[in-house]
Amino acid sequence: MNDLAIKAQGLTKSYHMGSSTLRVLRGVDVQVRKGEFAVVVGASGSGKSTLLHLVGLLDKPDAGSVWLDGIDASKLPAAKRNRVRCRDVGFVFQFYHLVPELDIIENVLLPVKVDSSVLAWSRRRGPARKQAVEILESLNLSHRLGHRPRELSGGERQRVAIARALINNPKVLLADEPTGNLDSVTGKQIISVLRSFNQQRGQTILMVTHDNNLAQQADTVFRLADGRLGG
Ligand code: ADP
Ligand code: MG
Repeated sequence: MNDLAIKAQGLTKSYHMGSSTLRVLRGVDVQVRKGEFAVVVGASGSGKSTLLHLVGLLDKPDAGSVWLDGIDASKLPAAKRNRVRCRDVGFVFQFYHLVPELDIIENVLLPVKVDSSVLAWSRRRGPARKQAVEILESLNLSHRLGHRPRELSGGERQRVAIARALINNPKVLLADEPTGNLDSVTGKQIISVLRSFNQQRGQTILMVTHDNNLAQQADTVFRLADGRLGG
């Protein structure tokens, strides 16, 4: 039986700028079990976002492979790869990336809409909306449902982003410095929210951060330095 939600092997990634090459990842292996809350800690510029983008199929490695729930992403045709990314991966970013023109329910529903044909959307809209409201309520945002992102505090915005990341019931939730733009009290609340989704719903999470203190909540902590991942 496959109990790994995420497996990556031998990931390398370099960026080329003019004649210089920056070797960011030099052979990274990582494994995250289903239901695990894993954190990668590394200094700014160590390659954390690069790694998360590879794991989340937002970018391709120069070498190495990523398996999500046992499926080798490098073997998938582009359309299938995009579908896996839409359905099976939820992303939370430092700067929320909410759509300012949409209210928070509409923001949360976006990943469902993107993943639906016009016909499927007309069928899925009702149930998805109900689920969006439930998730937002569980994040203490019931009183904010009709509001636009600009009317919300940073912590509230990040909770909306978490709801959006969870709406498709993704196999993995990837979080890139999710507290990086928040004060430390609000940041701790966001980590508790992630932890409770992990404990109550078995949500697999891989978070990257430069902050050692945040890693204390995790089941497993990896350290990224010199292009390699250590325990
Ligand atoms: P972290 O998230 O740990 O701060 P990043 O993965 O964002 O690190 O970046 C690692 C290194 O790669 C940094 O030095 C960064 O400037 C560089 N880098 C990231 N993305 C690009 C890119 N698209 N082109 C060129 N250099 C990049
Ligand atoms: Mg980063």
